[in-house]
Amino acid sequence: MSTLGSKVVAITGASSGIGAATALELAARGAAVVLGARRTDRLDALAARIRDEGGRAEVLAADVTRRADVEALVARAVDRFGRLDVLVGNAGVARTAPVADLDVDDWNAMIDVNLRGVLHGIAAALPVFRRQGRGHFVTTVSTSGLKVVPTQAVYAGTKNAVRTLLEALRQESTDGVLRTTSISPGFVRTELVDHLDDPGQRAQAQEAMATLGIGPDAVARAIAFAIEQPDDVEIGDITIRPARQG
Ligand code: NDP
Repeated sequence: MSTLGSKVVAITGASSGIGAATALELAARGAAVVLGARRTDRLDALAARIRDEGGRAEVLAADVTRRADVEALVARAVDRFGRLDVLVGNAGVARTAPVADLDVDDWNAMIDVNLRGVLHGIAAALPVFRRQGRGHFVTTVSTSGLKVVPTQAVYAGTKNAVRTLLEALRQESTDGVLRTTSISPGFVRTELVDHLDDPGQRAQAQEAMATLGIGPDAVARAIAFAIEQPDDVEIGDITIRPARQG
Protein backbone atom coordinates (compact mmCIF):
# COMPACT_ATOMS: atom_id res chain seq x y z
CA MET A 1 0.00 0.00 0.00
CA SER A 2 1.77 3.16 -1.15
CA THR A 3 -0.52 5.97 -0.13
CA LEU A 4 2.29 8.32 0.85
CA GLY A 5 4.10 8.31 -2.48
CA SER A 6 7.48 9.95 -2.18
CA LYS A 7 6.88 11.84 1.08
CA VAL A 8 9.86 12.32 3.37
CA VAL A 9 9.02 12.23 7.07
CA ALA A 10 11.33 12.89 10.02
CA ILE A 11 10.21 11.50 13.37
CA THR A 12 11.58 12.44 16.79
CA GLY A 13 11.36 9.87 19.56
CA ALA A 14 11.35 7.10 16.96
CA SER A 15 13.17 4.53 19.09
CA SER A 16 10.09 3.07 20.81
CA GLY A 17 6.34 3.21 21.25
CA ILE A 18 4.32 5.56 19.08
CA GLY A 19 7.36 6.91 17.21
CA ALA A 20 8.60 3.46 16.20
CA ALA A 21 5.10 2.32 15.22
CA THR A 22 4.67 5.48 13.14
CA ALA A 23 7.95 4.88 11.36
CA LEU A 24 6.87 1.34 10.44
CA GLU A 25 3.41 2.44 9.30
CA LEU A 26 4.61 5.36 7.19
CA ALA A 27 7.46 3.40 5.64
CA ALA A 28 5.03 0.61 4.75
CA ARG A 29 2.88 3.23 3.00
CA GLY A 30 5.82 4.37 0.89
CA ALA A 31 7.32 7.27 2.84
CA ALA A 32 11.05 7.69 3.37
CA VAL A 33 11.56 8.02 7.14
CA VAL A 34 14.33 9.76 9.03
CA LEU A 35 14.49 8.44 12.57
CA GLY A 36 15.78 10.46 15.53
CA ALA A 37 16.17 9.60 19.23
CA ARG A 38 18.98 9.06 21.73
CA ARG A 39 19.02 5.22 21.71
CA THR A 40 20.60 4.65 18.32
CA ASP A 41 20.83 0.87 18.80
CA ARG A 42 17.03 0.82 18.76
CA LEU A 43 16.92 3.14 15.74
CA ASP A 44 19.41 0.99 13.82
CA ALA A 45 17.34 -2.14 14.45
CA LEU A 46 14.16 -0.35 13.35
CA ALA A 47 15.78 1.03 10.20
CA ALA A 48 17.12 -2.44 9.34
CA ARG A 49 13.63 -3.89 9.68
CA ILE A 50 12.16 -1.16 7.45
CA ARG A 51 14.82 -1.71 4.80
CA ASP A 52 14.31 -5.50 4.97
CA GLU A 53 10.65 -4.88 4.22
CA GLY A 54 11.59 -2.76 1.17
CA GLY A 55 11.29 0.66 2.81
CA ARG A 56 13.62 3.63 3.05
CA ALA A 57 15.02 4.76 6.42
CA GLU A 58 17.82 6.91 7.78
CA VAL A 59 18.96 7.13 11.39
CA LEU A 60 20.43 9.97 13.40
CA ALA A 61 21.20 10.38 17.11
CA ALA A 62 19.04 13.34 18.06
CA ASP A 63 18.33 14.64 21.55
CA VAL A 64 15.49 17.11 21.03
CA THR A 65 16.61 19.24 23.95
CA ARG A 66 19.60 20.21 21.77
CA ARG A 67 18.67 22.53 18.94
CA ALA A 68 21.67 21.49 16.85
CA ASP A 69 20.61 17.82 17.00
CA VAL A 70 17.16 18.60 15.64
CA GLU A 71 18.63 20.82 12.92
CA ALA A 72 20.89 17.93 11.96
CA LEU A 73 17.89 15.59 11.75
CA VAL A 74 16.10 17.93 9.35
CA ALA A 75 19.30 18.48 7.37
CA ARG A 76 19.78 14.71 7.08
CA ALA A 77 16.34 14.37 5.48
CA VAL A 78 17.12 17.09 2.95
CA ASP A 79 20.64 15.78 2.22
CA ARG A 80 19.58 12.17 1.84
CA PHE A 81 16.14 12.48 0.24
CA GLY A 82 16.16 16.00 -1.23
CA ARG A 83 13.35 17.42 0.89
CA LEU A 84 11.35 17.15 4.10
CA ASP A 85 7.59 16.94 3.84
CA VAL A 86 6.59 16.19 7.42
CA LEU A 87 8.15 16.55 10.85
CA VAL A 88 6.52 14.36 13.49
CA GLY A 89 7.44 15.97 16.83
CA ASN A 90 6.80 12.94 18.97
CA ALA A 91 9.62 12.72 21.55
CA GLY A 92 8.19 13.01 25.02
CA VAL A 93 8.64 12.19 28.69
CA ALA A 94 6.02 11.93 31.42
CA ARG A 95 6.55 12.44 35.15
CA THR A 96 3.65 12.49 37.57
CA ALA A 97 3.42 14.01 41.04
CA PRO A 98 1.37 16.61 42.88
CA VAL A 99 2.57 20.12 42.18
CA ALA A 100 3.23 20.56 45.91
CA ASP A 101 6.02 17.96 45.72
CA LEU A 102 8.02 20.64 43.87
CA ASP A 103 9.85 18.18 41.62
CA VAL A 104 11.45 21.03 39.74
CA ASP A 105 13.94 18.82 37.90
CA ASP A 106 11.08 16.72 36.54
CA TRP A 107 9.17 19.87 35.52
CA ASN A 108 12.21 21.09 33.63
CA ALA A 109 12.75 17.71 31.96
CA MET A 110 9.18 17.72 30.64
CA ILE A 111 9.40 21.32 29.48
CA ASP A 112 12.74 20.66 27.79
CA VAL A 113 11.64 17.56 25.87
CA ASN A 114 7.90 18.01 25.36
CA LEU A 115 7.80 21.74 24.64
CA ARG A 116 11.30 23.00 23.86
CA GLY A 117 11.92 19.89 21.74
CA VAL A 118 8.92 20.71 19.55
CA LEU A 119 10.03 24.34 19.29
CA HIS A 120 13.46 23.15 18.16
CA GLY A 121 11.71 21.13 15.46
CA ILE A 122 9.76 24.15 14.27
CA ALA A 123 12.92 26.27 14.23
CA ALA A 124 14.69 23.64 12.14
CA ALA A 125 11.93 22.70 9.70
CA LEU A 126 9.96 25.90 9.15
CA PRO A 127 12.59 27.54 6.88
CA VAL A 128 12.78 24.32 4.86
CA PHE A 129 8.98 24.13 4.54
CA ARG A 130 8.79 27.78 3.48
CA ARG A 131 11.57 27.27 0.91
CA GLN A 132 9.82 24.22 -0.51
CA GLY A 133 6.41 25.89 -0.48
CA ARG A 134 5.01 22.95 1.46
CA GLY A 135 5.36 21.28 4.84
CA HIS A 136 3.48 19.59 7.66
CA PHE A 137 4.04 19.63 11.43
CA VAL A 138 2.52 16.73 13.34
CA THR A 139 2.89 16.60 17.13
CA THR A 140 1.94 14.01 19.71
CA VAL A 141 0.12 15.83 22.47
CA SER A 142 -2.23 14.02 24.87
CA THR A 143 -5.72 13.57 26.25
CA SER A 144 -4.00 14.63 29.51
CA GLY A 145 -4.21 18.13 28.12
CA LEU A 146 -7.94 17.78 27.44
CA LYS A 147 -9.05 16.22 30.73
CA VAL A 148 -6.63 17.39 33.38
CA VAL A 149 -6.19 15.13 36.39
CA PRO A 150 -4.20 15.58 39.62
CA THR A 151 -0.46 14.71 39.39
CA GLN A 152 -0.31 15.54 35.68
CA ALA A 153 -0.31 19.33 35.85
CA VAL A 154 3.06 19.97 34.27
CA TYR A 155 2.85 17.11 31.76
CA ALA A 156 -0.60 18.29 30.65
CA GLY A 157 0.67 21.86 30.63
CA THR A 158 3.47 21.03 28.21
CA LYS A 159 1.06 19.18 25.94
CA ASN A 160 -1.46 22.03 25.96
CA ALA A 161 1.32 24.50 25.28
CA VAL A 162 2.24 22.52 22.16
CA ARG A 163 -1.42 22.37 21.12
CA THR A 164 -1.60 26.17 21.46
CA LEU A 165 1.67 26.60 19.61
CA LEU A 166 0.46 24.62 16.62
CA GLU A 167 -2.87 26.45 16.49
CA ALA A 168 -1.10 29.82 16.51
CA LEU A 169 1.30 28.63 13.84
CA ARG A 170 -1.67 27.48 11.76
CA GLN A 171 -3.34 30.88 12.05
CA GLU A 172 -0.10 32.62 11.09
CA SER A 173 0.30 30.39 8.01
CA THR A 174 -2.92 30.49 6.02
CA ASP A 175 -1.13 30.87 2.69
CA GLY A 176 -1.45 27.13 2.11
CA VAL A 177 2.24 26.34 2.65
CA LEU A 178 1.89 24.78 6.08
CA ARG A 179 -0.32 22.12 7.61
CA THR A 180 -0.40 21.39 11.35
CA THR A 181 -1.85 18.39 13.15
CA SER A 182 -2.08 17.72 16.89
CA ILE A 183 -2.62 14.08 17.77
CA SER A 184 -4.06 13.51 21.26
CA PRO A 185 -3.66 9.89 22.33
CA GLY A 186 -5.20 8.46 25.47
CA PHE A 187 -3.73 5.36 27.11
CA VAL A 188 -1.33 3.71 24.65
CA ARG A 189 0.76 0.65 25.54
CA THR A 190 4.33 1.95 25.32
CA GLU A 191 7.35 2.41 27.56
CA LEU A 192 6.24 5.91 28.59
CA VAL A 193 5.30 5.10 32.18
CA ASP A 194 8.16 2.62 32.69
CA HIS A 195 10.29 5.70 33.42
CA LEU A 196 8.23 6.94 36.37
CA ASP A 197 10.42 7.18 39.49
CA ASP A 198 7.85 6.33 42.14
CA PRO A 199 7.41 2.51 42.17
CA GLY A 200 3.79 2.73 43.32
CA GLN A 201 2.80 5.21 40.62
CA ARG A 202 4.80 3.25 38.05
CA ALA A 203 3.03 -0.03 38.87
CA GLN A 204 -0.38 1.67 38.82
CA ALA A 205 0.29 3.32 35.48
CA GLN A 206 1.69 0.13 33.97
CA GLU A 207 -1.41 -1.74 35.13
CA ALA A 208 -3.67 0.88 33.51
CA MET A 209 -1.67 0.70 30.29
CA ALA A 210 -1.77 -3.10 30.23
CA THR A 211 -5.50 -3.44 30.92
CA LEU A 212 -6.83 -0.41 29.07
CA GLY A 213 -4.22 0.78 26.59
CA ILE A 214 -4.50 0.53 22.83
CA GLY A 215 -1.50 -0.42 20.71
CA PRO A 216 0.79 2.29 19.30
CA ASP A 217 -0.08 1.09 15.80
CA ALA A 218 -3.52 2.66 16.24
CA VAL A 219 -1.92 6.08 16.79
CA ALA A 220 0.42 5.46 13.86
CA ARG A 221 -2.57 4.89 11.57
CA ALA A 222 -4.13 8.16 12.75
CA ILE A 223 -0.89 9.99 11.96
CA ALA A 224 -0.75 8.36 8.54
CA PHE A 225 -4.35 9.42 7.88
CA ALA A 226 -3.48 13.06 8.58
CA ILE A 227 -0.36 12.95 6.43
CA GLU A 228 -1.88 11.24 3.42
CA GLN A 229 -4.61 13.86 2.89
CA PRO A 230 -4.34 16.02 -0.25
CA ASP A 231 -2.19 19.13 0.22
CA ASP A 232 -5.20 21.42 0.54
CA VAL A 233 -6.76 19.36 3.35
CA GLU A 234 -5.58 19.86 6.91
CA ILE A 235 -6.54 17.48 9.69
CA GLY A 236 -6.03 19.82 12.64
CA ASP A 237 -6.74 17.60 15.64
CA ILE A 238 -7.23 13.91 16.22
CA THR A 239 -8.14 12.43 19.61
CA ILE A 240 -7.58 8.69 19.77
CA ARG A 241 -8.18 6.77 22.97
CA PRO A 242 -9.30 3.36 24.18
CA ALA A 243 -13.06 3.03 23.83
CA ARG A 244 -13.24 2.23 27.56
CA GLN A 245 -11.15 5.21 28.73
CA GLY A 246 -13.04 7.67 30.94
P1 NDP B 1 7.96 5.89 24.76
O1 NDP B 1 8.59 6.09 26.10
O2 NDP B 1 7.86 4.52 24.22
O3 NDP B 1 8.66 6.80 23.67
C1 NDP B 1 9.18 8.05 23.97
C2 NDP B 1 10.17 8.42 22.90
O4 NDP B 1 10.68 9.74 23.17
C3 NDP B 1 11.34 7.47 22.83
O5 NDP B 1 11.62 7.17 21.48
C4 NDP B 1 12.48 8.28 23.42
O6 NDP B 1 13.71 7.93 22.79
C5 NDP B 1 12.07 9.68 23.04
N1 NDP B 1 12.72 10.70 23.84
C6 NDP B 1 12.67 10.92 25.18
N2 NDP B 1 13.47 11.93 25.52
C7 NDP B 1 14.07 12.35 24.37
C8 NDP B 1 15.01 13.35 24.05
N3 NDP B 1 15.54 14.16 24.99
N4 NDP B 1 15.39 13.50 22.76
C9 NDP B 1 14.89 12.72 21.81
N5 NDP B 1 14.00 11.73 22.04
C10 NDP B 1 13.60 11.57 23.32
O7 NDP B 1 6.50 6.55 24.91
P2 NDP B 1 5.36 6.88 23.85
O8 NDP B 1 5.61 6.24 22.56
O9 NDP B 1 4.10 6.64 24.54
O10 NDP B 1 5.52 8.46 23.72
C11 NDP B 1 5.54 9.15 22.49
C12 NDP B 1 4.79 10.45 22.64
O11 NDP B 1 3.41 10.18 22.85
C13 NDP B 1 5.24 11.31 23.82
O12 NDP B 1 5.26 12.66 23.44
C14 NDP B 1 4.13 11.09 24.84
O13 NDP B 1 4.02 12.16 25.74
C15 NDP B 1 2.93 10.96 23.93
N6 NDP B 1 1.76 10.31 24.52
C16 NDP B 1 1.81 9.02 24.95
C17 NDP B 1 0.70 8.43 25.53
C18 NDP B 1 0.71 7.03 26.04
O14 NDP B 1 -0.29 6.63 26.72
N7 NDP B 1 1.71 6.21 25.80
C19 NDP B 1 -0.55 9.17 25.67
C20 NDP B 1 -0.50 10.51 25.16
C21 NDP B 1 0.62 11.05 24.61
P3 NDP B 1 15.16 7.86 23.47
O15 NDP B 1 14.95 7.55 24.92
O16 NDP B 1 15.84 6.79 22.70
O17 NDP B 1 15.76 9.22 23.22
